[in-house]
This record gives sequence, structure tokens and C-alpha cells, in this order.
Amino acid sequence: MGLDKERPQLIVNGRRIDGRAPDELRPIEMEVGVLKNADGSAIVSFGNTRVLAAVYGPREVMPKHVAMVDRAVIRCRYRMLSFSTEERKSPAPSRREIELSKVIREALEPAIMSELFPRTAIDIFIEVLNADGGTRTTGITAAALALADAGIPMRDLVAGVAVGKVDGVIVLDINKVEDMYGEADMPVAAMPGVGRITLLQLNGVLSRDEFSQALALALRGIRKIYELQKEALRRKYVSTTEEV
Ligand code: ADP
Repeated sequence: MGLDKERPQLIVNGRRIDGRAPDELRPIEMEVGVLKNADGSAIVSFGNTRVLAAVYGPREVMPKHVAMVDRAVIRCRYRMLSFSTEERKSPAPSRREIELSKVIREALEPAIMSELFPRTAIDIFIEVLNADGGTRTTGITAAALALADAGIPMRDLVAGVAVGKVDGVIVLDINKVEDMYGEADMPVAAMPGVGRITLLQLNGVLSRDEFSQALALALRGIRKIYELQKEALRRKYVSTTEEV
């Protein structure tokens, strides 16, 4: 394949292309309540991947016929903005964005107590501002914060990260180059507090042992991300309470 000729060496002296150790996350930033007009919002960065999430609801369902009598309908739209990629991305919704919207919704749904809000809608918007790998898991992490910020009762937060295999090494939180040239990538999302995995996808090939190792590494990363989510929520709510 043409790509292979330019394939960069992904691990040099035990370090990754951006200098990280195999089990190291990228620098993570989280801020909750960044949009005034949304009921809940958050912006999350994992290195150069930066994603905004906004939540509206529970609110009246439009169109009415999609309402459910026993719970809220949860709708999710994931989108990569035209300027989020190195080469301008077409603003038309791609198959990938439609599929990821569904996958992300299914990763978040088990956490939302939708049964408390029959006949309403909860709308989740995920906008990728800058893409450098792991946008679905960063989107899930941001959306969980936005849902909590909207005051929607949840069983737990959901946090996500993608692990992978690059140059034969299992690594945490892969970036775009590692995703493109690595042997495997595996996005995972979970509710760490209640011990549930809500997303698990694998592209590429892993042995059984590598798969176990990759999953354990992802879950350790998710635990750290979950602690950062709780801190981000405390930062917003503790300072708001102090102001009052
Ligand atoms: P994820 O972002 O969840 O890792 P993918 O594995 O599909 O999802 O994509 C990996 C990375 O490839 C993205 O984060 C982004 O940087 C890049 N990418 C994906 N789709 C496109 C696209 N249509 N145009 C440009 N870059 C893209």
C-alpha cells in the first residue's frame, strides 16, 4: 500500500511519536457550563482533539409522534466541523457521522434515567472542533459532563478513551497518526462507578492476551478520566455555590 512507504516509526526507545509512555494519556482539559443558552454543556480536550458538547432538555418532543410514553427519547448528533481536520471536511453529514451519532447515543443511554421524563426529549449535540484521534470517546466524555450540567439524573458518568496497538506495543489514548498507522485501535467507554462497559469497538487484529491487556489499560485510563470529570463538575458547582 502507498501509505506504508511513508509509515512513521511509532515507537522509538520505548516512547511514542508525541513523547508519551505507552500507558500515558494526552494532556486533558475539561470545562463544564461553557454555553449560556444550552441546558448543559462542556468542552473537553485530549491533546489536540477538542470537542464541545451541548445538551437540551428534557423538553417537549418535536415532532410529537417520536415521543415515548414511558421515558424520554434521547437523540444525539455527532459532527466534525469543516475546519476540524487538516483538509477541509465537507459539512454534509457523512455516513461515519451518522453511525457515530448512534454509537455515542448507545454509549450514553444506559447512564441516563430517561424513565423519569416520559414524553420528553433529551438532545445531545457533539461538535468536534479539532480532530486528532479519539473524537468519539472525547465526545462521550464531554456529553456525560454536559448531561450532568443540565441536571439530568444519571446512574453514573460515562468516560471513554481509545487504546491501540502500535509497533507491537499496547498503548493508551491513541492519536490520529497512531490510529492511521497502528495495527489496531479500540475505543472503549464505561461507567466506572457502576462497573459497566457501554462501548467497545475494535478495528484491526489483537491476540486474546493483547485484547485483555488493551481492555485493562483502557479501563485504567477511564478511571483517571472519570476522576477528572468529577473534578471539573466540582470546579463549576463549588465556585457557583460560593458566588451565591
Ligand atoms: P475517532 O475520532 O473516534 O478516533 P476514527 O477512528 O474514525 O474516529 O478517526 C480517527 C481520526 O481520523 C479522527 O479523530 C480524525 O482526526 C481523523 N478523521 C476521521 N474522519 C475524517 C475525515 N472525514 N476527514 C479528515 N480526518 C478524519
